[in-house]
Amino acid sequence: MTTPHDARRGRLIVLAGPSGVGKSTIVAELRRQLPELYFSVSATTRDPRPGEVDGVHYHFVGPDGFDKMLAGDELLEWAEIHGGLQRSGTPREPVEKALADGLPVLVEVDLHGARSMKKAMPESISVFVEPPSFEELERRLRARNTESPAQFARRLETAREELAARSEFDVELVNHDVTDVAARLVDLLIGRSSDGP
Ligand code: 5GP
Repeated sequence: MTTPHDARRGRLIVLAGPSGVGKSTIVAELRRQLPELYFSVSATTRDPRPGEVDGVHYHFVGPDGFDKMLAGDELLEWAEIHGGLQRSGTPREPVEKALADGLPVLVEVDLHGARSMKKAMPESISVFVEPPSFEELERRLRARNTESPAQFARRLETAREELAARSEFDVELVNHDVTDVAARLVDLLIGRSSDGP
């Protein structure tokens, strides 16, 4: 019989936090520290940004492809992001396969996705990454400079909403240092003792 903490099953972390908090940098560092990690590639209706590769950063399936995935019950969770600017969701099959293979799995979602994932996979550990301060987040988002003014304002608004919900998560991590945050995630994913160097 399989229990939620069956040692043969991989652990699942659901990572959320406001846009601009540094999640992609954390994930890149985490993959360096834990190469066997399976990182879920989301499906999305939005267009790729410069440098984003289909199948690597997202499956850029467009609105029709997304509707087909929904109709086929192929998503573990999905959400409308930034007030409906785009829809993104987590493909079910690769996550279930990786967990069954005993791999650690990381799924990155927005706040609504985190809530849905907790219902769909109650054994998951939800982690919220927060910025050292809201001003710091605003500065990082502005420096990224990939959004129109309307998108920027919308992202700040979403960030405010997400920060207000951080206490719903199992674990809160402040992103003072990317390497430290990634190391904490490794601890959670493979149960390593946290008193290493
Ligand atoms: P971006 O457009 O900047 O890549 O992502 C915008 C937001 O969408 C982020 O908050 C990110 O966490 C969220 N997101 C990305 N993939 C998924 C997903 O599969 N499901 C949900 N619910 N949110 C996602």
